[in-house]
Amino acid sequence: MTDFKNSLVFANELDQQDELSNFRTKFYIPKDKDGNELIYLCGNSLGLQPKSTRDYINQELEDWKNLGVEGHLHAKHPWMPYHEFLTDKMARVVGALPSEVVVMNSLTANLHFMMVSFYKPTKDRFKILIEYSPFPSDIYAVKSQIEFHGYDPETALIQMQPKPGTDIVGIEQYQEIIEEHGDSIALVMIGGVNYYTGQLYPMKSMTKLAHDKGIKVGFDLAHAAGNIKMDLHDVGCDFAIWCSYKYLNSGPGSLSGCFVHERHGEKFTGPRFAGWWGQDKATRFQMGPEFHPIPGAEGWQLSNPPILSMAAIMASLDIFDEASMDKLTAKSRKLTAYTEFLINEIQSENILLITPSDPDQRGCQLSLRVLGSDKSLFEKITNAGVIADWREPDVIRIAPTPLYNSFKDVFHFSEILKHEL
Ligand SMILES: *Cc1c(COP(=O)(O)O)cnc(C)c1O
Repeated sequence: MTDFKNSLVFANELDQQDELSNFRTKFYIPKDKDGNELIYLCGNSLGLQPKSTRDYINQELEDWKNLGVEGHLHAKHPWMPYHEFLTDKMARVVGALPSEVVVMNSLTANLHFMMVSFYKPTKDRFKILIEYSPFPSDIYAVKSQIEFHGYDPETALIQMQPKPGTDIVGIEQYQEIIEEHGDSIALVMIGGVNYYTGQLYPMKSMTKLAHDKGIKVGFDLAHAAGNIKMDLHDVGCDFAIWCSYKYLNSGPGSLSGCFVHERHGEKFTGPRFAGWWGQDKATRFQMGPEFHPIPGAEGWQLSNPPILSMAAIMASLDIFDEASMDKLTAKSRKLTAYTEFLINEIQSENILLITPSDPDQRGCQLSLRVLGSDKSLFEKITNAGVIADWREPDVIRIAPTPLYNSFKDVFHFSEILKHEL
Protein backbone atom coordinates (compact mmCIF):
# COMPACT_ATOMS: atom_id res chain seq x y z
CA MET A 1 0.00 0.00 0.00
CA THR A 2 1.67 3.10 -1.17
CA ASP A 3 -0.92 5.62 -0.02
CA PHE A 4 0.19 5.45 3.62
CA LYS A 5 1.37 8.60 5.35
CA ASN A 6 3.93 8.91 8.06
CA SER A 7 1.97 11.02 10.54
CA LEU A 8 0.02 10.71 13.75
CA VAL A 9 -3.00 12.29 12.08
CA PHE A 10 -2.96 9.58 9.42
CA ALA A 11 -2.51 6.80 12.01
CA ASN A 12 -5.51 8.16 13.88
CA GLU A 13 -7.52 8.16 10.67
CA LEU A 14 -6.69 4.50 10.13
CA ASP A 15 -7.84 3.77 13.67
CA GLN A 16 -11.12 5.56 12.99
CA GLN A 17 -11.71 3.50 9.85
CA ASP A 18 -10.90 0.27 11.69
CA GLU A 19 -14.08 -1.65 12.46
CA LEU A 20 -12.24 -3.76 15.05
CA SER A 21 -10.78 -0.79 16.93
CA ASN A 22 -13.06 -1.21 19.95
CA PHE A 23 -11.76 -4.75 20.58
CA ARG A 24 -8.78 -3.11 22.27
CA THR A 25 -11.10 -2.10 25.12
CA LYS A 26 -11.76 -5.78 25.82
CA PHE A 27 -8.15 -6.23 26.96
CA TYR A 28 -5.99 -5.01 29.81
CA ILE A 29 -3.11 -3.05 28.30
CA PRO A 30 0.00 -3.16 30.54
CA LYS A 31 1.10 0.23 31.91
CA ASP A 32 4.36 1.78 33.00
CA LYS A 33 4.94 2.88 36.58
CA ASP A 34 3.40 6.27 35.87
CA GLY A 35 0.21 4.66 34.64
CA ASN A 36 0.78 5.24 30.91
CA GLU A 37 -0.13 2.45 28.53
CA LEU A 38 2.88 0.65 27.13
CA ILE A 39 3.18 -0.12 23.43
CA TYR A 40 2.63 -3.85 23.64
CA LEU A 41 3.96 -5.61 20.54
CA CYS A 42 4.59 -8.97 22.13
CA GLY A 43 1.37 -10.89 21.46
CA ASN A 44 3.49 -13.46 19.62
CA SER A 45 5.05 -14.38 22.94
CA LEU A 46 2.28 -13.84 25.48
CA GLY A 47 -1.11 -12.48 24.46
CA LEU A 48 -2.80 -9.94 26.71
CA GLN A 49 -5.50 -10.73 29.22
CA PRO A 50 -9.09 -10.24 28.10
CA LYS A 51 -11.09 -8.38 30.73
CA SER A 52 -13.70 -11.12 30.52
CA THR A 53 -11.29 -13.92 31.51
CA ARG A 54 -11.76 -13.32 35.22
CA ASP A 55 -15.54 -13.87 34.99
CA TYR A 56 -15.12 -17.10 33.05
CA ILE A 57 -12.67 -18.43 35.63
CA ASN A 58 -14.75 -17.17 38.54
CA GLN A 59 -17.73 -19.09 37.21
CA GLU A 60 -15.75 -22.32 37.57
CA LEU A 61 -14.40 -21.34 41.00
CA GLU A 62 -17.98 -20.65 42.14
CA ASP A 63 -19.25 -23.95 40.80
CA TRP A 64 -16.37 -25.79 42.43
CA LYS A 65 -17.05 -23.94 45.70
CA ASN A 66 -20.77 -24.71 45.65
CA LEU A 67 -20.90 -28.10 44.00
CA GLY A 68 -17.62 -29.89 44.66
CA VAL A 69 -17.43 -33.07 42.64
CA GLU A 70 -20.98 -32.59 41.40
CA GLY A 71 -19.62 -29.86 39.16
CA HIS A 72 -18.47 -32.53 36.73
CA LEU A 73 -22.11 -32.95 35.73
CA HIS A 74 -23.94 -29.96 37.22
CA ALA A 75 -21.68 -26.95 36.83
CA LYS A 76 -23.10 -24.28 34.56
CA HIS A 77 -20.61 -25.61 32.00
CA PRO A 78 -20.19 -29.20 33.21
CA TRP A 79 -16.53 -30.16 33.58
CA MET A 80 -16.88 -33.66 32.19
CA PRO A 81 -17.50 -32.47 28.62
CA TYR A 82 -15.91 -29.01 29.16
CA HIS A 83 -13.27 -29.46 26.45
CA GLU A 84 -16.06 -30.05 23.94
CA PHE A 85 -17.35 -26.51 24.49
CA LEU A 86 -14.05 -25.27 23.04
CA THR A 87 -13.92 -27.54 20.01
CA ASP A 88 -16.09 -25.72 17.47
CA LYS A 89 -14.60 -22.36 18.34
CA MET A 90 -11.03 -23.66 18.12
CA ALA A 91 -11.84 -25.48 14.87
CA ARG A 92 -13.00 -22.16 13.39
CA VAL A 93 -9.72 -20.48 14.37
CA VAL A 94 -7.65 -23.04 12.44
CA GLY A 95 -10.12 -24.01 9.73
CA ALA A 96 -10.69 -27.63 10.70
CA LEU A 97 -13.61 -29.98 11.17
CA PRO A 98 -14.64 -30.18 14.82
CA SER A 99 -13.81 -33.90 14.87
CA GLU A 100 -10.24 -33.02 13.87
CA VAL A 101 -9.57 -30.74 16.84
CA VAL A 102 -9.07 -31.19 20.54
CA VAL A 103 -7.67 -28.91 23.25
CA MET A 104 -5.40 -30.86 25.59
CA ASN A 105 -2.00 -30.93 27.29
CA SER A 106 0.71 -28.42 26.49
CA LEU A 107 2.33 -27.79 23.14
CA THR A 108 5.57 -29.73 23.38
CA ALA A 109 3.77 -32.62 25.08
CA ASN A 110 1.36 -32.78 22.14
CA LEU A 111 4.25 -32.69 19.70
CA HIS A 112 5.62 -35.81 21.37
CA PHE A 113 2.27 -37.57 21.42
CA MET A 114 1.72 -36.80 17.75
CA MET A 115 5.17 -38.07 16.86
CA VAL A 116 4.44 -41.29 18.72
CA SER A 117 1.60 -41.80 16.26
CA PHE A 118 3.02 -40.29 13.08
CA TYR A 119 6.79 -40.78 13.23
CA LYS A 120 7.27 -44.47 12.62
CA PRO A 121 10.83 -44.79 11.34
CA THR A 122 12.07 -47.84 9.47
CA LYS A 123 15.56 -48.82 8.33
CA ASP A 124 14.99 -47.14 4.96
CA ARG A 125 12.75 -44.27 5.96
CA PHE A 126 13.75 -42.69 9.25
CA LYS A 127 14.61 -39.02 8.66
CA ILE A 128 12.80 -35.94 9.89
CA LEU A 129 12.90 -32.71 7.91
CA ILE A 130 12.59 -29.55 10.00
CA GLU A 131 12.51 -25.88 9.12
CA TYR A 132 15.36 -23.38 9.11
CA SER A 133 15.90 -21.88 12.56
CA PRO A 134 13.32 -23.98 14.42
CA PHE A 135 12.10 -23.17 17.91
CA PRO A 136 14.44 -24.94 20.37
CA SER A 137 11.72 -26.99 22.05
CA ASP A 138 10.74 -28.47 18.69
CA ILE A 139 14.29 -29.45 17.86
CA TYR A 140 14.82 -31.04 21.29
CA ALA A 141 11.59 -32.96 20.91
CA VAL A 142 12.42 -34.13 17.40
CA LYS A 143 15.98 -35.17 18.26
CA SER A 144 14.86 -37.05 21.34
CA GLN A 145 12.24 -38.93 19.30
CA ILE A 146 14.89 -39.89 16.76
CA GLU A 147 17.13 -41.18 19.54
CA PHE A 148 14.24 -42.90 21.27
CA HIS A 149 13.75 -44.96 18.12
CA GLY A 150 17.44 -45.84 18.05
CA TYR A 151 18.57 -43.53 15.23
CA ASP A 152 21.19 -40.83 15.20
CA PRO A 153 20.15 -37.17 14.73
CA GLU A 154 23.43 -36.65 12.85
CA THR A 155 22.06 -38.67 9.97
CA ALA A 156 18.34 -38.60 10.65
CA LEU A 157 17.72 -34.87 11.07
CA ILE A 158 17.63 -32.61 8.00
CA GLN A 159 17.25 -28.88 8.41
CA MET A 160 16.07 -26.65 5.55
CA GLN A 161 18.39 -23.84 4.52
CA PRO A 162 17.39 -20.34 3.44
CA LYS A 163 18.04 -18.76 0.07
CA PRO A 164 21.63 -17.53 0.04
CA GLY A 165 21.95 -14.10 1.63
CA THR A 166 18.45 -14.18 3.15
CA ASP A 167 16.56 -15.78 5.99
CA ILE A 168 13.74 -16.91 3.74
CA VAL A 169 13.21 -20.49 2.70
CA GLY A 170 11.70 -20.87 -0.74
CA ILE A 171 9.47 -23.71 -1.82
CA GLU A 172 12.23 -24.55 -4.34
CA GLN A 173 14.67 -25.34 -1.52
CA TYR A 174 12.06 -27.51 0.12
CA GLN A 175 11.25 -29.28 -3.10
CA GLU A 176 14.92 -30.03 -3.76
CA ILE A 177 15.29 -31.70 -0.38
CA ILE A 178 12.10 -33.70 -0.87
CA GLU A 179 13.33 -34.85 -4.26
CA GLU A 180 16.78 -35.75 -2.99
CA HIS A 181 15.92 -37.37 0.34
CA GLY A 182 12.18 -38.04 -0.05
CA ASP A 183 12.41 -41.80 0.09
CA SER A 184 14.28 -41.74 3.38
CA ILE A 185 12.20 -39.03 5.11
CA ALA A 186 9.53 -40.32 7.47
CA LEU A 187 8.21 -37.00 8.73
CA VAL A 188 8.20 -33.31 7.80
CA MET A 189 7.76 -31.22 10.96
CA ILE A 190 7.65 -27.48 10.37
CA GLY A 191 6.48 -24.36 12.16
CA GLY A 192 3.70 -22.93 9.97
CA VAL A 193 4.98 -19.45 10.79
CA ASN A 194 8.65 -19.47 11.71
CA TYR A 195 9.05 -17.98 15.19
CA TYR A 196 12.28 -16.19 14.32
CA THR A 197 11.72 -14.71 10.88
CA GLY A 198 7.93 -14.56 10.85
CA GLN A 199 7.85 -16.34 7.49
CA LEU A 200 4.58 -18.13 6.75
CA TYR A 201 5.29 -21.31 4.81
CA PRO A 202 3.09 -22.54 1.96
CA MET A 203 1.69 -25.33 4.06
CA LYS A 204 -0.58 -26.82 1.45
CA SER A 205 2.05 -27.18 -1.27
CA MET A 206 4.57 -28.46 1.25
CA THR A 207 2.11 -31.07 2.43
CA LYS A 208 1.28 -32.18 -1.11
CA LEU A 209 4.93 -32.52 -2.13
CA ALA A 210 5.65 -34.61 0.96
CA HIS A 211 2.56 -36.77 0.68
CA ASP A 212 3.40 -37.56 -2.93
CA LYS A 213 6.56 -39.19 -1.57
CA GLY A 214 4.75 -41.05 1.18
CA ILE A 215 5.99 -38.71 3.94
CA LYS A 216 3.85 -37.75 6.94
CA VAL A 217 3.49 -34.04 7.67
CA GLY A 218 2.99 -32.15 10.93
CA PHE A 219 2.92 -28.41 11.58
CA ASP A 220 3.69 -26.53 14.76
CA LEU A 221 1.27 -23.62 14.58
CA ALA A 222 2.31 -21.83 17.78
CA HIS A 223 2.93 -18.67 15.74
CA ALA A 224 0.12 -19.20 13.27
CA ALA A 225 -2.97 -19.95 15.36
CA GLY A 226 -4.96 -16.77 15.86
CA ASN A 227 -2.45 -14.93 13.67
CA ILE A 228 -3.28 -16.08 10.16
CA LYS A 229 -6.42 -17.49 8.63
CA MET A 230 -5.90 -21.16 7.89
CA ASP A 231 -7.83 -23.99 6.39
CA LEU A 232 -6.07 -26.89 8.04
CA HIS A 233 -8.45 -29.51 6.77
CA ASP A 234 -7.75 -28.39 3.22
CA VAL A 235 -4.00 -28.10 3.88
CA GLY A 236 -4.29 -31.81 4.49
CA CYS A 237 -1.39 -32.26 6.91
CA ASP A 238 -1.51 -35.32 9.13
CA PHE A 239 -1.33 -33.46 12.42
CA ALA A 240 -0.80 -30.00 13.85
CA ILE A 241 -0.28 -28.57 17.31
CA TRP A 242 -0.34 -25.04 18.72
CA CYS A 243 -0.43 -23.23 22.02
CA SER A 244 -3.16 -20.92 23.27
CA TYR A 245 -1.11 -18.38 25.19
CA LYS A 246 0.46 -16.49 22.27
CA TYR A 247 -2.00 -14.99 19.75
CA LEU A 248 -4.82 -16.85 21.47
CA ASN A 249 -4.58 -14.82 24.70
CA SER A 250 -5.43 -17.65 27.08
CA GLY A 251 -2.86 -17.04 29.79
CA PRO A 252 0.70 -18.16 30.55
CA GLY A 253 1.27 -21.86 29.94
CA SER A 254 -2.32 -22.47 28.91
CA LEU A 255 -3.34 -25.59 27.03
CA SER A 256 -2.49 -26.59 23.51
CA GLY A 257 -4.66 -27.26 20.49
CA CYS A 258 -4.16 -30.43 18.51
CA PHE A 259 -5.34 -31.35 15.03
CA VAL A 260 -5.46 -34.84 13.56
CA HIS A 261 -6.69 -35.01 10.00
CA GLU A 262 -10.02 -36.71 9.44
CA ARG A 263 -8.37 -39.45 7.37
CA HIS A 264 -6.68 -40.75 10.53
CA GLY A 265 -9.39 -40.00 13.01
CA GLU A 266 -12.04 -42.57 12.34
CA LYS A 267 -10.15 -45.85 12.61
CA PHE A 268 -6.61 -45.11 13.67
CA THR A 269 -4.69 -48.33 14.10
CA GLY A 270 -1.17 -46.99 14.51
CA PRO A 271 0.65 -46.54 17.80
CA ARG A 272 -0.56 -44.04 20.33
CA PHE A 273 -0.04 -43.34 24.01
CA ALA A 274 -3.45 -43.68 25.57
CA GLY A 275 -5.24 -42.33 28.63
CA TRP A 276 -8.73 -42.53 30.04
CA TRP A 277 -9.93 -39.23 28.59
CA GLY A 278 -9.45 -40.68 25.13
CA GLN A 279 -11.68 -43.61 26.00
CA ASP A 280 -15.09 -44.00 24.41
CA LYS A 281 -17.42 -41.78 26.41
CA ALA A 282 -20.16 -44.38 26.71
CA THR A 283 -17.89 -46.81 28.51
CA ARG A 284 -15.29 -44.56 30.14
CA PHE A 285 -16.85 -44.82 33.57
CA GLN A 286 -17.26 -48.57 33.41
CA MET A 287 -13.56 -48.37 34.16
CA GLY A 288 -12.75 -51.48 32.10
CA PRO A 289 -9.21 -52.42 31.08
CA GLU A 290 -9.74 -52.34 27.26
CA PHE A 291 -9.04 -49.07 25.47
CA HIS A 292 -11.65 -48.11 22.86
CA PRO A 293 -10.63 -44.69 21.61
CA ILE A 294 -13.08 -41.93 20.77
CA PRO A 295 -13.01 -41.47 16.99
CA GLY A 296 -11.25 -38.29 15.88
CA ALA A 297 -8.72 -36.09 17.64
CA GLU A 298 -10.40 -36.58 21.01
CA GLY A 299 -9.13 -40.15 21.06
CA TRP A 300 -5.63 -38.81 21.77
CA GLN A 301 -6.63 -37.21 25.07
CA LEU A 302 -4.96 -38.52 28.19
CA SER A 303 -6.19 -36.76 31.28
CA ASN A 304 -9.20 -34.90 32.53
CA PRO A 305 -8.19 -31.34 31.74
CA PRO A 306 -7.52 -28.27 33.90
CA ILE A 307 -10.87 -26.48 33.80
CA LEU A 308 -9.56 -23.13 35.08
CA SER A 309 -7.18 -22.91 32.16
CA MET A 310 -9.89 -24.01 29.75
CA ALA A 311 -12.18 -21.28 31.09
CA ALA A 312 -9.54 -18.75 30.02
CA ILE A 313 -9.44 -20.33 26.57
CA MET A 314 -13.22 -20.10 26.35
CA ALA A 315 -13.11 -16.38 27.21
CA SER A 316 -10.57 -15.80 24.48
CA LEU A 317 -12.22 -17.91 21.79
CA ASP A 318 -15.51 -16.08 22.35
CA ILE A 319 -13.67 -12.89 21.40
CA PHE A 320 -12.26 -14.54 18.29
CA ASP A 321 -15.74 -15.66 17.32
CA GLU A 322 -17.03 -12.15 17.73
CA ALA A 323 -14.21 -10.64 15.67
CA SER A 324 -13.87 -13.51 13.12
CA MET A 325 -10.60 -14.60 11.53
CA ASP A 326 -11.63 -12.96 8.24
CA LYS A 327 -11.88 -9.49 9.74
CA LEU A 328 -8.83 -10.03 11.92
CA THR A 329 -6.77 -11.05 8.93
CA ALA A 330 -7.90 -8.07 6.90
CA LYS A 331 -6.95 -5.67 9.69
CA SER A 332 -3.73 -7.54 10.38
CA ARG A 333 -2.52 -7.15 6.81
CA LYS A 334 -3.12 -3.43 6.90
CA LEU A 335 -1.61 -2.94 10.35
CA THR A 336 1.54 -4.89 9.52
CA ALA A 337 1.86 -3.21 6.12
CA TYR A 338 1.63 0.16 7.86
CA THR A 339 4.25 -0.90 10.42
CA GLU A 340 6.54 -2.03 7.60
CA PHE A 341 5.98 1.26 5.77
CA LEU A 342 6.91 3.26 8.88
CA ILE A 343 10.04 1.19 9.50
CA ASN A 344 11.11 1.65 5.88
CA GLU A 345 10.54 5.40 6.26
CA ILE A 346 13.25 5.50 8.92
CA GLN A 347 15.80 4.56 6.26
CA SER A 348 18.38 3.40 8.73
CA GLU A 349 21.26 1.19 7.64
CA ASN A 350 21.33 -0.30 11.10
CA ILE A 351 18.12 -2.25 10.83
CA LEU A 352 16.99 -4.81 8.30
CA LEU A 353 13.55 -6.38 8.02
CA ILE A 354 14.10 -10.10 7.55
CA THR A 355 10.41 -11.04 7.37
CA PRO A 356 9.07 -11.48 3.82
CA SER A 357 7.41 -8.32 2.53
CA ASP A 358 4.87 -10.40 0.61
CA PRO A 359 1.72 -10.40 2.80
CA ASP A 360 0.96 -13.97 1.71
CA GLN A 361 4.22 -15.10 3.27
CA ARG A 362 3.79 -13.68 6.74
CA GLY A 363 1.32 -12.98 9.51
CA CYS A 364 1.45 -9.92 11.73
CA GLN A 365 4.99 -10.40 13.04
CA LEU A 366 7.95 -8.45 11.72
CA SER A 367 11.51 -9.39 12.63
CA LEU A 368 14.11 -6.65 12.59
CA ARG A 369 17.75 -7.56 12.39
CA VAL A 370 19.92 -5.05 14.22
CA LEU A 371 23.16 -4.54 12.33
CA GLY A 372 26.46 -3.55 13.86
CA SER A 373 25.02 -3.26 17.32
CA ASP A 374 24.22 -5.34 20.36
CA LYS A 375 21.16 -5.66 22.53
CA SER A 376 21.36 -1.97 23.53
CA LEU A 377 18.90 -0.73 20.88
CA PHE A 378 16.36 -3.21 22.19
CA GLU A 379 17.00 -2.06 25.75
CA LYS A 380 16.53 1.56 24.72
CA ILE A 381 13.19 1.01 23.05
CA THR A 382 12.10 -1.04 26.06
CA ASN A 383 12.98 1.84 28.37
CA ALA A 384 11.00 4.14 26.11
CA GLY A 385 7.85 2.08 26.64
CA VAL A 386 7.86 -0.58 23.91
CA ILE A 387 7.30 -4.21 24.87
CA ALA A 388 8.84 -6.26 22.06
CA ASP A 389 11.18 -9.19 22.30
CA TRP A 390 14.77 -9.91 21.60
CA ARG A 391 16.00 -13.12 20.05
CA GLU A 392 19.69 -13.89 20.06
CA PRO A 393 21.88 -13.11 18.32
CA ASP A 394 20.48 -9.95 16.72
CA VAL A 395 16.73 -9.86 16.14
CA ILE A 396 13.94 -7.71 17.58
CA ARG A 397 10.54 -9.24 16.98
CA ILE A 398 7.43 -7.09 16.98
CA ALA A 399 3.91 -8.36 16.54
CA PRO A 400 1.21 -5.75 15.98
CA THR A 401 -1.79 -7.93 16.76
CA PRO A 402 -5.08 -6.89 15.22
CA LEU A 403 -7.20 -7.58 18.31
CA TYR A 404 -5.65 -5.00 20.58
CA ASN A 405 -2.97 -3.03 18.75
CA SER A 406 -3.82 0.23 17.06
CA PHE A 407 -2.33 2.09 14.14
CA LYS A 408 -1.39 4.74 16.66
CA ASP A 409 0.59 2.10 18.60
CA VAL A 410 2.76 1.30 15.62
CA PHE A 411 3.18 4.94 14.75
CA HIS A 412 4.50 5.65 18.25
CA PHE A 413 6.70 2.57 18.03
CA SER A 414 8.26 3.86 14.82
CA GLU A 415 8.89 7.27 16.36
CA ILE A 416 10.64 5.67 19.33
CA LEU A 417 12.69 3.37 17.09
CA LYS A 418 13.76 6.30 14.90
CA HIS A 419 14.74 8.32 17.93
CA GLU A 420 16.73 5.52 19.56
CA LEU A 421 18.54 4.70 16.32
C1 LIG B 1 6.09 -21.05 21.91
C2 LIG B 1 6.57 -22.23 21.20
C3 LIG B 1 6.84 -23.44 21.88
C4 LIG B 1 6.70 -23.52 23.37
O1 LIG B 1 6.32 -24.81 23.78
P1 LIG B 1 5.54 -25.08 25.14
O2 LIG B 1 5.46 -26.55 25.19
O3 LIG B 1 4.21 -24.39 25.06
O4 LIG B 1 6.36 -24.50 26.27
C5 LIG B 1 7.27 -24.53 21.13
N1 LIG B 1 7.41 -24.44 19.79
C6 LIG B 1 7.17 -23.30 19.12
C7 LIG B 1 7.34 -23.24 17.63
C8 LIG B 1 6.75 -22.16 19.80
O5 LIG B 1 6.53 -21.03 19.13
